[in-house]
Amino acid sequence: MQEHVYVYNLAFFDIYMSYSKLYTMSIIDNIRGLAIITVASITIILLPITSVYATDYYSGRRWGGTTVDLCYDAYGLSSLRIDGQINQYTKVQQQIDIARNDWNNLPSRFTLNKVRSDQWCINWVYGANRGYNGPAAETMLCINSVSTCYYSFDNMPSDNIVKAAVTFNTYDSWSTTRECTSWADEDGPWTLNYVARHEFGHWVAFKHTATVSVMYYLYNCNYRDSIKQHDSDSLTSIYG
Ligand SMILES: [Zn+2]
Repeated sequence: MQEHVYVYNLAFFDIYMSYSKLYTMSIIDNIRGLAIITVASITIILLPITSVYATDYYSGRRWGGTTVDLCYDAYGLSSLRIDGQINQYTKVQQQIDIARNDWNNLPSRFTLNKVRSDQWCINWVYGANRGYNGPAAETMLCINSVSTCYYSFDNMPSDNIVKAAVTFNTYDSWSTTRECTSWADEDGPWTLNYVARHEFGHWVAFKHTATVSVMYYLYNCNYRDSIKQHDSDSLTSIYG
């Protein structure tokens, strides 16, 4: 059963947390876990490339349109500790905007459109305390109905995405500078715009990948610091 959990974490989730659990397992469990990771990696490598714009990590679900309105949760995001301080909503917004605009500035017409948070809003960027064991951030996607939502993106039903939300963990510490934190340090500090860039990749319907991509499955500053060509090409192939 434990192996199943590890594969589940590896494949589906933002796994800042799950890897540190591998560290604390027994040697036997470690070997099992690593063997599964190896098998998973080989499987990924063997996937055929079927198009020029390889969307090997596309979930198969997308937004019906090409513009997604979203709101920022001022209260929750003000509780994020960034550069050692809380109540830094302006700074937090700037970091999330960097990531959002990186997606918006690609050749694709897809747009993540920030609207005033006091408007009626479907899609949200939240801050909330998910605790020591919670992921640094997690994206939820709802398919077809706002009551059918997923935190993992491999087994979603095939229909349009109708709602998305990302939650940044206020338990963790965050930064505006380049943090190349080891994945074993599950509480950061994380560079906020690096993590936001990755989470917005889930919003546009990407799963994790082991290739050079902002959707690389581990927090790695060399993958999260910018959107890669593979991501841009894939976005265009989905949304034009
Ligand atoms: Zn992720």
